[in-house]
Amino acid sequence: MAGDKENLTVYFNGEWVPWADAKVHIFTPAVKYGAGVFEGICAYKTPDGMSVFRLKEHLARLEYSQRVMRFERIYTAADLTEPVLEVVRRNGFSETVHIRPTVYVDGIGEAGAPGPIGVAVTAVERKRAANTETGCRVQVSSWQRISDLSMPTRVKAHANYNNSRFATTQARQDGYDTALLMNAKGQVAEGPAMCFFMVRDGKVVTPSITSSILESITRDTVLTLCREELGLETVERDIDRSELYAAEEAFFCGTAWEVTPIAEIDGLPVGAGKPGPVVRSLQTAYFDLVEGRVPDKRGWRTPV
Ligand code: PMP
Repeated sequence: MAGDKENLTVYFNGEWVPWADAKVHIFTPAVKYGAGVFEGICAYKTPDGMSVFRLKEHLARLEYSQRVMRFERIYTAADLTEPVLEVVRRNGFSETVHIRPTVYVDGIGEAGAPGPIGVAVTAVERKRAANTETGCRVQVSSWQRISDLSMPTRVKAHANYNNSRFATTQARQDGYDTALLMNAKGQVAEGPAMCFFMVRDGKVVTPSITSSILESITRDTVLTLCREELGLETVERDIDRSELYAAEEAFFCGTAWEVTPIAEIDGLPVGAGKPGPVVRSLQTAYFDLVEGRVPDKRGWRTPV
């Protein structure tokens, strides 16, 4: 069942256990109602060894997610920093890994149960996706991004990801790589696990953080790199659907998606239909930063 992961070790409720033993019961609120929260964090190989990117911000968001979920016990950055670093060390990773801290409602309670709270940290190898080079083909989804009136969009709660799943499965069924979801206002929100950017008139445009998106850490990295390293003007504002078809360039960003060009939206080529100069320069800046080829001016890399 564990496949190529069977030799991995997982941090599970204060112990280090084999992959196959990190289990919860079918009757937990985590399984029954998706009552759990998580983070996706990347650690990269750098010239100075493995390094976790923006660990502090990820663990702060995880703490926020737990508070909004009203968990009776909160795992703080102080609790989880060491398990996150140790999961990379213990498994002997020397290439890019995706680390997933998970905090969930254990026990046998009903939907409103505040606990007991369980915690785990896994790490699995992650290879850079081919569409980072070629660009991806995107469908504007007929599923709407969850509204903050129904599910808190800033919380990385497991249950929220059924929204992502509907959009992704529909897009794949229809022959696209992934989806772009509109929000309840009918404007662009984000992809199933990544934020959206486009270039118009040379400016880098992205929906604001009040557009029903996850407050993405990579989005903040990209905005910072645009402003402070690449001298590009950035605009955070609503984006209409028809503007998508006028964009010079478009791309997604996220911890797992990194900076991925968008080649087509709804079958219409974006710009020249291949990755443009802005997304290419951003990719270089991003990969140089996470992989340690440029100085860490902002304290964003934590050595393992
Ligand atoms: N939106 C959603 C719904 C996501 O799941 C993610 C991945 N965490 C993102 C955006 C990108 O967020 P980040 O850059 O913090 O990984």
